Amino acid sequence: MRLRRNLVRTATLVTAVTLPLAFTPPASAATADIPDVLANALSSQVKGKNVKKHLDRFQQIADANGGNRAAGTPGYDASLAYVRDKLRRAGYKVSTTDVEFPVSWEEFSPSVLQQVTPEAKTYANPSDFLTVIDSSGGDVTAQIQVVDAVIPPPPAPNTSTAGCEAADFAGFVPGRIALIQRGTCPFVDKATNAKAAGAAGVIFFNEGQPGRTDPFSFDIREWRFGFPIVFASTAVGLDLADTPGTTVRLKVDAKTTVGQTKNLIADSLWGKKGEVVMAGAHLDSVTEGPGINDNGSGSAALLETALKLAYLPTKNKVRFAFWGAEELGLLGSDQYVAGLSQAERDKIRLYLNFDMVASKNDVTFLYDGDDSDAEGAGAGPAGSAEIEKLFEKFYGKRGLGFKGTDFDGRSDYGAFIAAGIPAGGIFTGAEGIKTAEEAAVFGGTADAPYDPCYHAACDSITNINAAALDRNSRAIGYATAFYAYDLSTIPDRDAASLARSAAATKRAPEDAAR
Ligand SMILES: [Zn+2]
Repeated sequence: MRLRRNLVRTATLVTAVTLPLAFTPPASAATADIPDVLANALSSQVKGKNVKKHLDRFQQIADANGGNRAAGTPGYDASLAYVRDKLRRAGYKVSTTDVEFPVSWEEFSPSVLQQVTPEAKTYANPSDFLTVIDSSGGDVTAQIQVVDAVIPPPPAPNTSTAGCEAADFAGFVPGRIALIQRGTCPFVDKATNAKAAGAAGVIFFNEGQPGRTDPFSFDIREWRFGFPIVFASTAVGLDLADTPGTTVRLKVDAKTTVGQTKNLIADSLWGKKGEVVMAGAHLDSVTEGPGINDNGSGSAALLETALKLAYLPTKNKVRFAFWGAEELGLLGSDQYVAGLSQAERDKIRLYLNFDMVASKNDVTFLYDGDDSDAEGAGAGPAGSAEIEKLFEKFYGKRGLGFKGTDFDGRSDYGAFIAAGIPAGGIFTGAEGIKTAEEAAVFGGTADAPYDPCYHAACDSITNINAAALDRNSRAIGYATAFYAYDLSTIPDRDAASLARSAAATKRAPEDAAR
């Protein structure tokens, strides 16, 4: 039955898409219009009612697996199996990549910080210093190296840039313990730079203004540094900094238990290998609920786009990604991009991201690739503005509203733009509150959240806006198909983008401590 049904469906589709393929442009139309014609034809095939069938399945999977589809749970694995089987049957070359995530962090005994030379002295835990949560375990005795500290401390809080720039570590001797003042950038950035410079451990110390002298507990939210990290008082920091050559013993007795999950990657059979159009959505939910809008909606719309696009012999290679562990800190996409060679990264001409596309009280937000809103983060890598324009054209031609949303790095495009890859996408709103102005343009309820069930148990199949799902699924189909045929609007990587790609260091997680 299944085989026969598939054959019938295939035949119908081929007929449907053969029309535009055989389409003869009127004398006045340029051949440049053909990608648009093909993209519109594909777009008309990606229907909300079919996308909804995938959402029904995600809901069933959550129901059968404790109410969620979170990374590392059977609900996620079942979601991945469902998408994988559909894509395989449609003819994609399907693979997975491993994703690690922290499950728990345990400290077995209090950390130790001792000055060994020039003076033997033991600092008090917790009044002089504290373990940084998520620190790796380790027991190191080594010389201190002060990194770009402002001593005496600056009068204004949050002004020291110590350790924020890789250049602060010029001359850092690998194997030493970095002594780094609190200041303008997240602690995780400082530790990342210290790791790159070969540090064997990190001692942070408070910046030194009134109210900013004691140690306090915080989670650095990165478990892979591989060296011990503590946070000390300003007094300890200054004490350690005052004599060049000071040696310390730093010991943290802790361990992170790491879980494993997977990203699902599907490559089209067609298209030039060196010209990859990539589109992704995170497949994991939070543990609180089934995650049908966040992000069943983006996953299902992308899956349906892939199933319909499978029948089109595209000019460029199309790669679909279903990310794991997005909700745990964008881990799937981060680890995927970090695992690519520069040559592989450079083949990815652009990345489209879809994370929540059917919010109940929706606004059609488009990632602000050109920074025309001048809000928050700046423009994306060259080409991001053109992607935003393509979506604007899709909605504009249909008389539908749209609005920019800051490239704030809150979803899986973050690793791509950090690596200089242009990106864009659609987002219909999360916990933010709809303004009266937005309600006037997009309808819905002002002064209420875009998604009333964001990250909650009620993000179920009833938390879907059918009209938004249909509209945005078609836009996803349009943009993916358009770029599958035409990358002429996407410029070659400029110097800035190539530099980002070469650097491609880890980004700081959202709300990172600083
Ligand atoms: Zn999401």
